[in-house]
Amino acid sequence: MFANNGWIERNPIPSAFASWGTFNELSERNTLVLKGIAERAAAQAATTPDSSTRKLGMFYASCMDSTTVEHAGIEPIADELARIEAIDDRAALQDEIARLHRLGYGAAFSFGAVADAKNATRVIANASQGGLTLPDREYYLRSDTEGTATRDRLVASVTSMLSLAGDAAPIAESRAQHILALETSLARSQLSRVAMRDPNSRYHPMTVAQANALTPGMDWRRYLAEVGLPNVTTVNLGTPEFFTTLGNELATRPLDDWKAYLRWTVVNRSASQLGAPFVDESFRLASMLTGAREQLPRWKRCLAATDQLLGDALGREYVKTEFSPEAKAKMGEIVASLRGVLRDRIRHADWMSEETRAEALRKLDAFGQKIGYPESWNDYAGLDIAAVPYAENVRRTRAWLFEHDVTRVGRSVDREQWLMTTPTVNAYYSAQLNEIVFPAGRLQPPFFSASYDAAANYGGIGATIGHEMSHGFDDAGRQYDAAGNVRDWWAPEDARHYRARASVVERQYSAYVAVDTMHLNGRLTLGENIADVVGVSLAYEALEHALDGTSRAPIDGFTPEQRFFLAYAQARLSVLRPESARLLLATDPHSPGRFRVNGPLSNMPEFAKAFGCKEGDPMVRSEGTRARIW
Ligand SMILES: [Zn+2]
Repeated sequence: MFANNGWIERNPIPSAFASWGTFNELSERNTLVLKGIAERAAAQAATTPDSSTRKLGMFYASCMDSTTVEHAGIEPIADELARIEAIDDRAALQDEIARLHRLGYGAAFSFGAVADAKNATRVIANASQGGLTLPDREYYLRSDTEGTATRDRLVASVTSMLSLAGDAAPIAESRAQHILALETSLARSQLSRVAMRDPNSRYHPMTVAQANALTPGMDWRRYLAEVGLPNVTTVNLGTPEFFTTLGNELATRPLDDWKAYLRWTVVNRSASQLGAPFVDESFRLASMLTGAREQLPRWKRCLAATDQLLGDALGREYVKTEFSPEAKAKMGEIVASLRGVLRDRIRHADWMSEETRAEALRKLDAFGQKIGYPESWNDYAGLDIAAVPYAENVRRTRAWLFEHDVTRVGRSVDREQWLMTTPTVNAYYSAQLNEIVFPAGRLQPPFFSASYDAAANYGGIGATIGHEMSHGFDDAGRQYDAAGNVRDWWAPEDARHYRARASVVERQYSAYVAVDTMHLNGRLTLGENIADVVGVSLAYEALEHALDGTSRAPIDGFTPEQRFFLAYAQARLSVLRPESARLLLATDPHSPGRFRVNGPLSNMPEFAKAFGCKEGDPMVRSEGTRARIW
């Protein structure tokens, strides 16, 4: 509050947002840059020889063309709805699910290409649990009044959206009830988010014959052929129990219920591309969950969709003005210094045996790093974006992306791929590629600037770098080895020590109350909290190295150490609406911003020293409850 309260008082959450803070400010600035890029591309679309610019321009223009969108009504999805209406047996039902997957709608479950968790150089076909409209299984299973109210709101929303799509009111209402019943059955068979954090819980590769035996109502040979993989003979069924339930549902639930569900899937997943009545109803449902009170303006929604579907076309232009070679070089320096600190910590961890330590160091030394933007840009070859209604362009793009994804099955892993677009205000660690990745969208003030002094950069992006590196050794990341394979390389005694240290983090965060009487879920957020606790501590030590031999004169009355902690807190400022806090507590593996700041810093003697805190002060955790991994 010392670092952020002034800002919080001056900046109430805008109506269109569920939360507000530093990430949003930066993201809004990036969005303005992207707006310029998209508008220029739209103006040049008819004449430019550059196909990526043309596609970008036409896609954005078709989204902004609300007249055509309104005029088209439900025409862009009419064929798909008619196709669903015509389903008359179980085989046709399954084929339609495959077809919807191919068109990028997603229905009943998720399907795509992933690296084999135990042979990380190879790409395999992966089916994972899914098929729900609400954000988590808990929304379907909760028996309290809030759970009931949420499901009632869902039924009302499905009813009015199906009515908009042409159903008579009593039919829409009855279909909505059946959709809820089907989704509830799927939800009941899903693993919780906490259970899903264990990579072994999601790893069940099997032959097509084994998969068929497990899911009686589903013919995987036929499904794989329908999605364009006729020669694939094995598939990973992430959570077998879910697929057994899905198979039973496909075999036994009335065909009409399934048809209602698929109809809803198409309408719901198309709503943002249709006319105002659909967009408004879709927003009402989302708003119940996030607390946002009005919609974002059309151009912002269009840019978000463009970034999501044609991210490379935007990213290629974004970095031309927003990410310099000096910035890339400076980032390289900071990453190298953080790697050095983590290496020292692992070398000196007195609780680790030499064999486990050697494996840990091998893993750290094998870390790849990607900074700013990809080596080569996707040019969307073969994707036909045209002057057609926006929903049609979205469908073509989603279909292109699905095909692009699944053709990787059976090949070796593409180490060049990025899992976030370049303008994204975020960063990640990939356990399977064993690499840390920092999109240029995040490498901006207030997190980072090539012209900042060390305290500001290390407190901002430095702690983020430390955070991403620490994921390689958080409670889930540590289950992967240097090659990105799930393999237990920990001596039992070392694993026991690690778990004891991690449990201190879990207890600390489980005690925090985020909203009403709701506590943080210390198990769901454990990996992120470990990464925060370790990350800021690594960055602090790297700052001390960087300050060696430099002037430590205060700036604005603050020492470099104080400014490091202020930068850390200010870069993680985030205020949530209560609705949004409840949603994130149930679904987000990250703790809310307040705890991402106070949690790690209250563990650090260095923080207490910098601000003259003493034992017993609120920001000083007592000896014995302080979390420390390395
Ligand atoms: Zn993280």
